[in-house]
Amino acid sequence: MTWIPNDLPPERGVFCNRTLNLRSIRAIGYDMDYTLIHYHVDEWEGSAFEHLKQGLLEKGWPVENVVFEPEMVTRGLVIDRDLGNLIKVNRFGYVKQAAHGRTFYGFDQLRRTYRRTLVDLGESRYQFLNTLFSISEACMYMQLVELLDEHKLPGVMNYADLSNVVRLTLDQAHMEGELKREIIADPGRFVDLDPNIPRALLDQKEAGKRLLLITNSGWNYTKAMMNYAFNPYLPDGLTWRDLFEIVIVSARKPAFFSERAPLFRIINEEGELRPCQGGPTEPGLYLGGHAGLIEEYLQLNGDRLLYVGDHVFSDVRVSKSVQRWRTALVIRELEEEILALKKARELQDGIAALMHRKETLEYRQSQAKLALLREEKGHDLDGLPDFSQPLKDEVDQLSETLKDLDSEIGKLVVQDGNLFNEHWGYLMWSGNDTSHLMDQISKSADIYTSRVSNLLPYTPFAYFRSPRGTSPHELSQIYKMPPAVECE
Ligand code: IMP
Ligand code: MG
Repeated sequence: MTWIPNDLPPERGVFCNRTLNLRSIRAIGYDMDYTLIHYHVDEWEGSAFEHLKQGLLEKGWPVENVVFEPEMVTRGLVIDRDLGNLIKVNRFGYVKQAAHGRTFYGFDQLRRTYRRTLVDLGESRYQFLNTLFSISEACMYMQLVELLDEHKLPGVMNYADLSNVVRLTLDQAHMEGELKREIIADPGRFVDLDPNIPRALLDQKEAGKRLLLITNSGWNYTKAMMNYAFNPYLPDGLTWRDLFEIVIVSARKPAFFSERAPLFRIINEEGELRPCQGGPTEPGLYLGGHAGLIEEYLQLNGDRLLYVGDHVFSDVRVSKSVQRWRTALVIRELEEEILALKKARELQDGIAALMHRKETLEYRQSQAKLALLREEKGHDLDGLPDFSQPLKDEVDQLSETLKDLDSEIGKLVVQDGNLFNEHWGYLMWSGNDTSHLMDQISKSADIYTSRVSNLLPYTPFAYFRSPRGTSPHELSQIYKMPPAVECE
């Protein structure tokens, strides 16, 4: 079971994959973008999309008519760079949905194309959409695939080349340049403020946790965002800088967790740098470096450190797999997903009832088929159900009924998933199975929640316990089929 404080709605819960006692955590590192600072995704990604489009126009690409359609994409999907597709993968690595450009594959095409494919995200063929920053990129890619198919993109050989160009052009837009200047100049348009985030961190600091900020953003941008989103909500005289013992900007995660880049000290507000060999010796502002230096400075190792971030791979997967830090994933879409699941309860009860009927009929059909087979082969074994009806007719009729049931179930499943995203369904589900995204989260994030401020009512002393998992063999999940002859 998962508990939540009385005054929190379920979509604001903190959910636990691996038991985590905050009392034993000595230091908490925070990512900034989409973790401590949440953005209005349509504004931020809409602007990133426009800058990306501008970059492509400057290369002479005919992209005047591409439009930002964020509803076509969700986090956790995968770009298949070989085929120019966007795909949804289940926890086993099987492709369950695909779109080429903005055209979705039908069932047969999907089977033909991906029947033999097991997606391994380690292969360069695949690009996982790890964060909300991936939305503009995937949106652009889908539409460019259509232009490439029409032979309208100069010099691009294939779908993988295309994704490289999009990636490079977007990287340029993300650098501290025009896009970031636009956001710094008008943070109110882009930042979705949450006063309870600074309050949650203040509690943690006062409870003795050592706080760190470790962001890939540069110094100017970090300073502007944190001033805007934190300072007004802290008690008089305190600023965000007082919360964090160590601030690291331009951290270059995931390399920050797996490589050994040099560290610099930021020595003034303008961001002037001085090399800092040997790692930090005192609290302050730094640039670059790596996780090993932080552990040395704090005199702590992995299980005493919690890192909180939104990037499924860089913030959570790598910090856990390389450094063995404890991890928390912030995933804002969880709120919408849980609300959709709540709305869908009736639909899901309907699906479960139909599935139950389907399983019963399938069982009956299997028995009838086997009896038919035995009759054909001339076996007549004692103790088996007595099938006196014309078995062939029954098998055929059951096949028809099952087909009808499948189409009824299919419609309900689509209706159900539509409550979250009309094209791709739920984030965490892929049909009856969990999605690849959920699989990644289960394996890498000790806890996950929609926003950092959800930690506030849990207190810095919370004990998160993973619920006892239900496996298919648990007795409460097993039900018995009625005797075959009584089935309808
Ligand atoms: P963090 O989440 O606080 O570590 O910072 C994310 C930073 O990475 C932001 O400054 C983003 O602009 C930047 N960023 C996000 N996606 C990309 C990308 O695809 N290319 C380059 N920079 C990116
Ligand atoms: Mg982030």
